[in-house]
This record gives sequence, C-alpha cells and structure tokens, in this order.
Amino acid sequence: MFDNLEIWWVTGAQMLYGEEPVRIVESHSREMVDGINAAGAIPVKVVYKGTVMSSKDIERVMLEANADGKCIGIITWMHTFSPAKMWIHGLQQLRKPLLHLHTQYNAEIPWDTMDMDFMNLNQSAHGDREFGHICARLDVRRKVVVGYWKDPATLERIAVWSRVAAAVADARDMLVLRFGDQMNNVAVTDGDKVAAEMQLGYHVDYCPVSELMEYHKAVADADVDALVAEYHRMYVCEGDVAVPSTDAYKAVWNAAKAELAIRACLKAKGAKAFTTNFDDLGTDDINDPKFEGFDQIPGLAAQRLMAEGIGFGAEGDWKSAALYRTLWVMNRGLGGCSFLEDYTLNFDGARSSILQAHMLEVCPTIAEEKPRLEVHFLGIGIRKAQTARLVFTSRPGTGITATVIDMGNRFRLIVNDVECIKSKPLPKLPVASALWIPMPDFATGAGAWIMAGGTHHSCFAYGITPEYWSDYAEMTGIEMVHIDKNTTLEGFKRELRMGEVYYMLKK
Ligand code: MN
Repeated sequence: MFDNLEIWWVTGAQMLYGEEPVRIVESHSREMVDGINAAGAIPVKVVYKGTVMSSKDIERVMLEANADGKCIGIITWMHTFSPAKMWIHGLQQLRKPLLHLHTQYNAEIPWDTMDMDFMNLNQSAHGDREFGHICARLDVRRKVVVGYWKDPATLERIAVWSRVAAAVADARDMLVLRFGDQMNNVAVTDGDKVAAEMQLGYHVDYCPVSELMEYHKAVADADVDALVAEYHRMYVCEGDVAVPSTDAYKAVWNAAKAELAIRACLKAKGAKAFTTNFDDLGTDDINDPKFEGFDQIPGLAAQRLMAEGIGFGAEGDWKSAALYRTLWVMNRGLGGCSFLEDYTLNFDGARSSILQAHMLEVCPTIAEEKPRLEVHFLGIGIRKAQTARLVFTSRPGTGITATVIDMGNRFRLIVNDVECIKSKPLPKLPVASALWIPMPDFATGAGAWIMAGGTHHSCFAYGITPEYWSDYAEMTGIEMVHIDKNTTLEGFKRELRMGEVYYMLKK
C-alpha cells in the first residue's frame, strides 16, 4: 500500500557562510534521511531532494513535487538560516501536504568546544522560526513537528502524517460507486458531491442497479462454489449453512454470487468504495421469470469488502463510504476498523453506552472472535428474505470514531474517542455489533456529537489516535471538532460557534 510512495525531504540553507558549510549541510541532511529510513518507523520512504538556497531552486522542487505521482508530501527543515522570502513563490505553488520539521542535526550543545562556526551550523532554532513565519503569513496548511530526529516520538508524529498523506493521495484517485440513491428524505448522509471532490478529492458516480445486474448475470457458478468454500474455511459455519441442499446454504450461495457481481463491477469501474440501498436490489418482482436481482441485501459482501479496504456506506451514504476507505488506508496494519451505526442506547449509570451495529454491514476486522456465518430472516427493504451475514461482537478496547458532514459552506469532521466494552449475548439479534461508551461520558459525548450535527453512521478504528484525523483535517482544509475526555458541553458549544465565525470569514 505504501510501497510506491515517497516523501520528499527538502533542506533550507543559504550561501552566507560559504561552500564548505553547505557541503556539511548536505552531508548532515543525507545522514538524517538515511537514519530516519533505517529506523523503520515511517511506513513511506523519505527521499532527500537537496538543499535549496534560492527562490528559483525552491520553486522548482515544489513544482516537481506537484507533478510527481509518487510524492505524497514534503518535509522541510531549515538546517541553517534560510531567509524566508525565498520560500514565497515555492510555497505559493505547493499543492502537496507539508510537514515542517523543527529539529537539529546535533543533539546536545558541546559546551566546552562550541564556537561560532558550530553555532552557525546548528541554526535550526533560528531558521525554522523564519520559515514558520512565512508559512503563517501565507496561510499554508501544514503540520509542525518539533523534536530530535532520532527520537521515536518525533518519528511517530511523522509516521502519522505520512499515513494520512497516503490516504489523502489515495482519495484523490478514488471513485465511489453508488448502487441506488440516498435513502429517501435522509439529510445527514447527503451533501454536495462537487464540493467533496474539490475539497476531499474523491469522485462520486451513480451506477444503475440494472447495470450491476449485468455483472450478476455473468458470474459463473463454479466461481460461486469456490467462494462458498472460502467462506467455510474462513468463518465458523454450523448447522444448515454447511449443508448443501438447505435453504440456508442456498442463501449463502446467493450472497456469494452477489459478492462476485459487486467485485466485478467495482473492478471494471476502478472504484474503491460503494454504497447500497436496501430498496433497490434489481428487478422488483422476484417471481418474474426475467428476474435478475439480489434475493437479499448484499450485506455479507459489504462486510467482506470492507475488510479488504473497499469503502462502504449503507443507504447511499457516499461520504461514509469514502471516509471508511480513507480510514482503512491510514490505519493499515494498525488494527481493525469498521463502518458502524448508532443503534440502541443502554442506560446504565456511569457505564451507559451505545450499541453499534447495522442491519448487516459491520467489518469483521473488529471482531473479537472468529466470525460466524449465519442466515436469518431480515424483514427490511424491498426483499424480506433469508439473509447471510457474519455475526460477531467487537474486541473491548479504546478507539476513535469519526464522521464527515456537509454544513453547506464547509465539511465538518466530527471525531469522538470511545471505549468499546464487553457486550452481552444477543440471541435474538444475530448481527455483528460493538458496544461503546463515548468519551468523556455517555451524556457529554453523545450530547456533543448531536450538537455538532453528527451522523448516525461513523467510521471507527482501534489503531489510530486523534492526531490522524487532525492531520487529515489540516491537509484537506476542513473543520474538525474533537470530543475527548476533556470535553465539556459548554466549551464544545463555544468551539462550534467559533468555528462558524472562522469559516464565515475564511470564505
Ligand atoms: Mn444505516
């Protein structure tokens, strides 16, 4: 996923001290970049792109970064004093994410031997402030990371930024395919697709379900059989689902066929995310001899595709589908993640919590145990039918959930720290689920989320920290509000109102 990507490292200096110091700056820069790559903490390769010392040099490297498909962002560092007027034209051109690293080649001051030459060569304290000024003056969106370049904590902050930069680059090459429209009358999952492409990068297209059915028709029975066999290897399959000739087995077989149809269609279109609508599943009349449609909601397909990084949003929720894909990219290798929906409240004093589930579509990467493949009747949507699904509960642990909403003049990212707690068995509700307490507590967390206008759908992950979403909001230029252990409703309300003013002035 991150293999073919690069982060470019550009060092700032000037010729004031002659050629020899610049040669040292070069060698220090190479040693630092090599050392950072060798430390293995950053999942994207860092490439040293030279020490720049003039406005022309800087503009050239920024334009090259814009044009280079592998380059997902730039790290700048001012080894010595780099007068920042020479950065104006370059920074005005830069279209890729920027990380300003405030570090120094040398760690501790050599008190006994330090002279003026040494001081001139260890001038980041000075040069990075000059650079910071011009970024602030030009209103350049960036992340500032301060710390010694060998310190794991410094590298971790760069690693977070690099993962988010990879996800932002991925989104600029993302097609979200909508099978069916938004669920009628729902406001929060809808929004401006043009603004989304301008701001968040991804493109949203409609694919008629009749076209998806052309892929469905073309699925070979042998491929379905093979996929059913794969299900049997991957999941706990007990009772009828494992017995050919039963209705349950047939329902699983049909679900596998639906999965293959969706896969083929996404592949043919080059889509990385999709939405479904449970009222639009192909030919309406299942008894029509010409019937070509899904006999059930393709929830199992959504569950399995999410696990592979395909974005998914239910009921036409294309913003959540895209956000899930973005989350999956930045969360790669760090832990499970899933699309989830606030379903049912559990009032239980200080342990009051929210059951997170969906009709079917929860990603098995958050499962505590091996998922069970089950078939049950589902009485919602255009087909009321025996429906295959993976059933599990999520692992206890802390995580973060997020959503994006369209406020009309901007997108707002709402982020909430949550604690997943142990769920109880739900023998009459055979769906995948999680149970969590939103931070700082149920009343404040849910209250703040509602006050911010957050969706009932969100994208949850165990492995990330709020810094990921903060970097994402910075790179994409959208609003972010974060509900955490320090949130109070009064303070949060003030923050929302400050945001209103900020984005009114910003436009
Ligand atoms: Mn839903």
